[in-house]
Amino acid sequence: MRKKTIRDVDVNNKRVLVRVDFNVPLKDGEVADDMRIRAALPTIQYLLDHNAKVILMSHLGRPKPENRDQFRMDPVARRLAELLGRPVKKLDAVVGPEVEAAVAAMQPGDVILLENTRFEPGEKKNDPELARQLAALADVYVNDAFGSAHRAHASTAGVKQVRPDLPAVAGFLMERELEFLGKVRENPERPYVVILGGAKISDKIGVLERLAQIADAVLIGGGMANTFFKALGYETGTSLVEEDAVETARDLLQRYDGKLHLPVDAVVADRFAPDAEAEVVDVQAVPADKMILDIGPKTIEHFGDILRSAKTVFWNGPMGVFEFERFAKGTFAIAELLAQLDGATTVVGGGDSAAAVRKAGLSDKMTHVSTGGGASLEFMEGKELPGVAVLDDAENA
Ligand code: ADP
Ligand code: MG
Repeated sequence: MRKKTIRDVDVNNKRVLVRVDFNVPLKDGEVADDMRIRAALPTIQYLLDHNAKVILMSHLGRPKPENRDQFRMDPVARRLAELLGRPVKKLDAVVGPEVEAAVAAMQPGDVILLENTRFEPGEKKNDPELARQLAALADVYVNDAFGSAHRAHASTAGVKQVRPDLPAVAGFLMERELEFLGKVRENPERPYVVILGGAKISDKIGVLERLAQIADAVLIGGGMANTFFKALGYETGTSLVEEDAVETARDLLQRYDGKLHLPVDAVVADRFAPDAEAEVVDVQAVPADKMILDIGPKTIEHFGDILRSAKTVFWNGPMGVFEFERFAKGTFAIAELLAQLDGATTVVGGGDSAAAVRKAGLSDKMTHVSTGGGASLEFMEGKELPGVAVLDDAENA
């Protein structure tokens, strides 16, 4: 079901409460990476262009009562003001009299940023009282925080739950995420190739199950491939293997025979370290004292052959320990292959996968790189995310 967006509601002179994802990395009291702030700009700018009073809220990190000063939103407000080229009034509370007074004094075109929503104990508990106080600030509720939409918190789901009559719509970032992830989840153009990797199979079982059903091919790399090798009876040496998941891997290999493609060679090393000596071996010849840290060149070629004809690709999970340069080749090669696909829809989900694509400098060459780590995985498993479920359905959708 398509959701209403900010285009579908009247925001002129309205108090628009927007849940954004400003959970940015900080360094020395400043924003170290403003990607997430930039990602929210189209929504904020649209609201300002349409004469709204914009009230922004987000969580930031995992504050505790004793260290909360490190998690105040002030650096975020400073960066946002620079990017918008207009003042952002940062408040020191999430709700309460100070906030109510500041909101009551707003003019169209004003921007307020509330304090870190996680300073309120009711945020993570989705406390209806906190949600009611937030809802009282708003004429329209917007959720643009896809990365937090898998959590039913007061700011992501509660506001609409306590005020069902409040218009609740998606921002542009949320809309984009739902459009592209929705396409690779439900309606891919074929051939549809899924690439799954990352550390552990147990994190990805739900995604693997669902995508194996609809994809034409599933390419498996990263640490999770090791558990499949174990299921096939290969020597896996000192590689990361999930003993508990060997049975599941065997079962998946049987049920999706012909669809699952495993690496044929691997880069191995004697220890988990950036300067460990790397060696390429066939996956059936892994020495007992070595660990698999990347896919090998023959695998890259084999995966490349399958990818070349793809019309849709979804990729989650690095092919190796890309944090170490020596073991990053497989991951970067896959990123390069996707970047070179002409006329195909390429979607990347997962926090580390998105980081790898950025490190390769290829984010702009993908159709869509999801801003949601956990949220994108839960979405791909087929779950309805609480922060999406509360939004108003578009008519005739
Ligand atoms: P995402 O965040 O994209 O969903 P994951 O969190 O599942 O991805 O996995 C990313 C991690 O997997 C990276 O830190 C990477 O180093 C690790 N990884 C990939 N291949 C291996 C491997 N062969 N052995 C150990 N760790 C691996
Ligand atoms: Mg991760």
